[in-house]
This record gives sequence, C-alpha cells and structure tokens, in this order.
Amino acid sequence: MEKGKELYRGKAKTVYATNDPNRVIMHYRDDVSAFDGAKLAQLEQKGETNNRFNAFIMQTLEQQGVKTHFVEVINERESLVRAMKMLPVECVVRNVCAGSMAKRLGIPEGTPLSEPVFEYFYKNDALHDPMVNDDHIRVLGWASDEDVQRMRVITKRVNNVLKPLFGNAGIDLVDYKLEFGRAVDDPNGQLLLGDEFTPDGCRLWDQKTGEKMDKDRFRRDLGDVIKFYREAAKRIGVPL
Ligand code: UDP
Repeated sequence: MEKGKELYRGKAKTVYATNDPNRVIMHYRDDVSAFDGAKLAQLEQKGETNNRFNAFIMQTLEQQGVKTHFVEVINERESLVRAMKMLPVECVVRNVCAGSMAKRLGIPEGTPLSEPVFEYFYKNDALHDPMVNDDHIRVLGWASDEDVQRMRVITKRVNNVLKPLFGNAGIDLVDYKLEFGRAVDDPNGQLLLGDEFTPDGCRLWDQKTGEKMDKDRFRRDLGDVIKFYREAAKRIGVPL
C-alpha cells in the first residue's frame, strides 16, 4: 500500500490517498481542538492513543455485526480505511444528559435518561453544526428516510455493544457522536460506520470517582487529558 497525496486535513486527522482509489489512510495527529477550532493545542501521544483506541472499538463493533469502514492499523499513527462518501450529518447518542443537551434544556449534567436519546446535527462549521431532525435530513436531501432508519438501527446496536464494554470497565458511556457513509466501491451503497470512535468524540465518566476521561478534560481545562484517554483505553483492553 503506497501513501499518496493529502486529500483532507481535519482538526485532528489528515486523510491521505493510496494507490488504491477505494482505500484511504487516516493519520491521527497530536492536535486537539474544541469550540469549533477556537481552542487548539497539541498533546503528546494523542495521535497514537486515538489510532489504537479507534482500531479496538471498530474491530469490536465489526465482531458484533456492525459494518464499518475500518480495514487495518498500518503504523503507530495511521490506519487504512475504505474510501467513503459521508452523509453530512452527525448522529449523537446520549445515555446520560450532558454537554449541549444539559445547556439547551436546562437539565443538570449527570441526569440519567431512561432510554438512549438520538440527536442529529448538520455538519457545517460556519453554522456551528446546528441540530436538525429526521424531516430536515430527508426533505433537504441529505439522506433518505431509509438511511435515517438504518442509522438508528446501527446506532442502537453500537450502544448495545459499547455501553456494556465501558460499563464492565467501570466507565459510564455518557454520550458519543457517530458518522455514517457509503464505501465508494460498493454498488449497493450500504451504510457503514465511518470517521472514528475515540475519547475525542464521546463522554466517559469513571463510575467510582466521577472523573471525566474524555475531551471535556481539554474543553474544561481539567489537565492530564491523554493520561485519562490512556487509562480508559487500558481498562477496556486496548493494546497500547
Ligand atoms: N461531539 C463530537 N463532535 C461534534 C459535536 C459533538 O464528537 O462536533 C461529541 C461530543 O464529544 C460528545 C457528544 O458528541 O461526546 C455530544 O456532544 P454535545 O452535543 O453535548 O456537544 P458539546 O457540548 O460536546 O460541544
């Protein structure tokens, strides 16, 4: 597999082409950002930690029947994935009220939810990723009704796998963001889980101490960001 030119540089990852048009390389940098890029930093070992974390989660999900774009880890900071055409929506799942939900609805962070709450956000930095509903997604042509139903089904399965995975490690999976797309070489256009699952895109709370083990440590200046990412990784069995 030969590494080609840079295709896209995001806030924490860079995507590179390969000599196979159906495969791309995801390179995890040490960059961390919050508040739409208003707060930026570099954290030692972040890239390698998130690369390993994501690989472990994607492989675990695949074993449980969730189709993802993940192919394999190539080196410390890079993984090979299927080239995808992504839907322009982020799917957020909440098991406990926190973050923007707590703020928007005036409900204290930590309020348990009797069942998972799904939210969709339109991926648009200039608009600060506004919240949208199934109608917006369908009527504006971002995805079909069937796609929305599929995303819900897949997301439920993801939650059924990941909530106990973290739970058994003494960690509450509070909320997380998923992104979906279609592999460019799939004639059937099956929806696959894309992007990443790392502590950058979820909330993880230590069940005993209540300590945050995710990007809120960076957002809220709590310190020891990567130390806690690695502690969460170690507890669920990620080989670091
Ligand atoms: N999230 C994300 N990318 C985004 C927005 C949210 O990964 O662009 C994740 C975030 O880390 C959290 C969950 O989705 O785990 C819910 O985020 P929320 O809506 O509460 O927004 P926040 O307050 O984190 O900006």
